[in-house]
Amino acid sequence: METSQNIIPINKWFKQLNNKPVIISGPCSAETENQLVETAKAIKNTGEVQVFRAGIWKPRTRPVNFEGVGEKGLIWLKNAKEQTDLLTTVEVATPEHVEKCLKYGVDILWIGARTTSNPFSISELAQALKGVDIPVMIKNPINPDINLWIGAIERFNKIGINKLAAIHRGFFPFELTSLRNIPKWEVPIELKRNFHNLSIICDPSHIAGKQKYIYEISQKALDLDMDGLMIESHINPAEALTDSNQQILPEELKSMLDSLVVRTPVSNNFNFINSIEKYREQIDSIDTQLIELLAQRMEIVKQIGVYKKNNDVTILQLARWEKIINSRIKFGLKHGLSKNLIKKIMQLIHKESIQKQDDIMNN
Ligand code: PEP
Ligand code: MN
Repeated sequence: METSQNIIPINKWFKQLNNKPVIISGPCSAETENQLVETAKAIKNTGEVQVFRAGIWKPRTRPVNFEGVGEKGLIWLKNAKEQTDLLTTVEVATPEHVEKCLKYGVDILWIGARTTSNPFSISELAQALKGVDIPVMIKNPINPDINLWIGAIERFNKIGINKLAAIHRGFFPFELTSLRNIPKWEVPIELKRNFHNLSIICDPSHIAGKQKYIYEISQKALDLDMDGLMIESHINPAEALTDSNQQILPEELKSMLDSLVVRTPVSNNFNFINSIEKYREQIDSIDTQLIELLAQRMEIVKQIGVYKKNNDVTILQLARWEKIINSRIKFGLKHGLSKNLIKKIMQLIHKESIQKQDDIMNN
């Protein structure tokens, strides 16, 4: 369901942004004028970047860490823009940041993940932008709470900002993972379902946390039809004051971008259209059968519920549940399905079955 109609896709914001994917790159943080300008020039030389990013005020977990160069960085950024003709983007977290960015002619603002998590901050930032025509990109909140993300987009949209995009940078990892942040690709996909015109940019650098994972995450984002990539780059990543493990050299950026495959969401090939149509008919029919079978299973679950109730037997039967999950996983493996998939599906079914029997016993 689309909650807003008047959002302008990123490829209509500026003439430089009309190709897909839009590539945004630049250092995590502006550190010195030389680092900033040299990175911008090298990025420009790749011929593939449209927007130059730099963090001027850095949200750090602890105050002992480098917190950004502040206002003077905006003067360097303006200089970098003049020398390269790249559009510029900066993270803003307070109305004062907004005021400074507007003063120095930053082209696009972005909202960091920590700020999106706080509706008070978002309201203040939106208020500071009332009547201003500037594009805003909104990173996902730290936690995978899609409504916070939607809420932030709505708050800016409501005060009249319609050049809006989302940046997917992954979510705080509660599970063990090699990545810095868990992508949870289903969240940006669901966001897109809410706002059809909203462009989604992937930030593979903050998802990855390490240089070596950036390529595969970028390719996956493109294969999910995302509209662009924001990739951190630095002329000397090893010496970077922030996010040193995930920044790449401009020349590495270029070779990475050159080897990414950009696929399109539609094909004009008649044979392709025909055969995908046939496959989809098969999928539709199998899904129908799956749902009918699930419904039959639930009917039996309910009958068992009545039976348990009449005999004062508990809903949870641990031994039976263990037997189910183990045997289904084994059966699934035999059919080439992963343990993880079968486990998740069976857990979902079991949870719903418990709920159904609980309704019967207690309502
Ligand atoms: C950044 O882009 O450097 C940054 C601080 O990102 P995030 O808000 O995604 O943590
Ligand atoms: Mn960073």
